[in-house]
Amino acid sequence: MTVALAILDDDRVETAIEAVIDAGRYASARHWVPATSGNFSVRIDATRVAITRSGADKGALTASDVLIQALDERLLPGSSAEAALHIRQYTDNPDIGAIFHIHGPSSTVIGHAHLVDGAVLLNGWELQKALLGVTTHEATVEVPVFANDQDIDALSQRVASRLAEPVPAQQIRAPGYLLAGHGLYAWGRTPRDATRHLEALEALFNQIIVFRSYRP
Ligand SMILES: [Zn+2]
Repeated sequence: MTVALAILDDDRVETAIEAVIDAGRYASARHWVPATSGNFSVRIDATRVAITRSGADKGALTASDVLIQALDERLLPGSSAEAALHIRQYTDNPDIGAIFHIHGPSSTVIGHAHLVDGAVLLNGWELQKALLGVTTHEATVEVPVFANDQDIDALSQRVASRLAEPVPAQQIRAPGYLLAGHGLYAWGRTPRDATRHLEALEALFNQIIVFRSYRP
């Protein structure tokens, strides 16, 4: 590798690490990652991602809390068990540039409530237009829901299989999914897109919860 390419590579790595740290702070400030929960990752290039290590306080991340993980190698020591969910998605979808995972209160509750349905369907909400490919509140947006599982390899396989299935007719699939009683995964081509999707979905789930509990 030439000196110029090495510097460019260093820049890419540093940019990805900074984006991971920023995402962690952003989510922590909104109380979406209590007690060191959540995971944040950003793609560096076709073969590597920057991803939070296990057990770190996401509101106080430093560069030493972020691992540089090759997509085709075993998880590094200190990796979160859930890193496998990130790695599988980056491997399956080259367009994904960032994946953020939170234990936001509304995501966690609504996933639990809709496990039996296998999905949360969004319809009639203006904010759903913040999701990639959704241009109207009249669209029906499917957010898949999976049973939580401590066997992350099995869970990762179930998620990958479901996301590879065609979207049901007349629906648009959200750039995110729920683990029942656990939280939300959301992604995008860039960290900015992933952040917008995370914020929109958590807010939409909160709106649904409020709507259902409101009695005029
Ligand atoms: Zn989690």
